[in-house]
Amino acid sequence: MKKPSYHQYQHVIMISLDSLRNDCITANPSNLPNKLSRRTKFKTTMLDYLIKRGTYFNNCISAAPYTSASHAAYFTGCWPRRNGVYEFFNRQIGRPTIFELAHLKKIHTIFQTDFPIILGDSLGFTRGVDKYFIESESAAFAELSRSKDRDTLSFFHFGGIHYPYGFHKLKFAKIDFPKKVKALERKFHITPAANQADMLDESYRHGRDKDLLLRYKTIIDTLWSRREYDELHALYVDGIDYFLKHRFNKFIKKIIDFVDTTNSLLIVFADHGENWAADSRGHSNAINDAVLRVPVIVYGKGVAKNTVVSNLIRTIDIMPTIGRYSKIPAANLDGRPISLEKPDYAPLPREAFAQVWRVGDRLKIYKHQQRILKGRKMIRPLTTKLEKEAVYRGRFALNREYDGNGELAREALYMNTGQRLVLTKPIAGTLADLRKRLRKYNHIKPKKSRRINKVSRSIIADLHNLGYRV
Ligand SMILES: [Zn+2]
Repeated sequence: MKKPSYHQYQHVIMISLDSLRNDCITANPSNLPNKLSRRTKFKTTMLDYLIKRGTYFNNCISAAPYTSASHAAYFTGCWPRRNGVYEFFNRQIGRPTIFELAHLKKIHTIFQTDFPIILGDSLGFTRGVDKYFIESESAAFAELSRSKDRDTLSFFHFGGIHYPYGFHKLKFAKIDFPKKVKALERKFHITPAANQADMLDESYRHGRDKDLLLRYKTIIDTLWSRREYDELHALYVDGIDYFLKHRFNKFIKKIIDFVDTTNSLLIVFADHGENWAADSRGHSNAINDAVLRVPVIVYGKGVAKNTVVSNLIRTIDIMPTIGRYSKIPAANLDGRPISLEKPDYAPLPREAFAQVWRVGDRLKIYKHQQRILKGRKMIRPLTTKLEKEAVYRGRFALNREYDGNGELAREALYMNTGQRLVLTKPIAGTLADLRKRLRKYNHIKPKKSRRINKVSRSIIADLHNLGYRV
């Protein structure tokens, strides 16, 4: 039998919009900004443009609710349990990344990120990267333009949707960022100095940037403790709007122009969403659907146009898909390639897994911190415990949560409409099947758990300031 031949793209461009919920795209019929009613002028114009002229995967489930593990799944095409990065910041990627594989084929690799600590050297994200940029998409894009005649793989990561919502840093919002922080403190009667005593005083961010981030964090922590979830969602949606208008739209227009005039494949995605509720503090500890369901948009010549796909796909399917349509040798992965000509075609049902792993007890975290602060460079992986997990398959999804002793604390079965989850009564056969699949998933062991080395104390401090417990 003749092997089918697929179109080969010369340039592959990946764009990650950190923390963008799937239902915060206006083209999505069940969108959150509409539910918040007062946000009538909210419009994701350029993303809608791409969806009209490309394919929008509306039922894609991320392998993790945190940046590190989610991106490692995208970049290895393997489940977090297999690639090694299933916790937030504890181990290096133990599988070849798409950048390493591209590099082997002499494909020029470009990587831009707003989070150089998480998506950096420590966890292995820079391996195989020829040109690495921090918070400078223009410079990274110039590098791509200069490399027009070569084969390229480029990645652009944006942190502007993550809190501080809309801004990321003063560099991108010199006047509006401090203005907003002041206005919020006034509106919600929050004193900036009050809750900052327990924060570590070293940060990757410096001076005013650090001060503003801490004040912003105090604001959202306070609102969360007051259960002002609607206020938090409104802040988040305003942030998306601000980021798109002031930073992203200009950039994506240049990218679209590049794709239209070259042989390029563009994939725009998110690593996780964002959701505020009693058991969902933003994203890092949550496995609810608003956090795990992420938008994926594919655009380029030969890609099905104006197509919305509701079949379940996983973030690990992106890399094998890129492998099929480029020279990058991405095969034998956990993910399965998606047809770009017929993206709805799914001969076998897919199943998606996601997990949250946490460090066991507080004393251990404290000791770990002290060790780092004493300046020791080598950091052993901490012992971590599975806290929450989810499996999606067909029309159903199962969520499970565990207490400190690893005992089941909560279990819930949902119907997956292809757009969202709806709580449903337990169905014995379905429950047993999904539990079995989770058990099987947990039998996957990463080959080697690679240590993180050379993590400086400023890196750890910055992670703390961002709100992560590492
Ligand atoms: Zn993220």
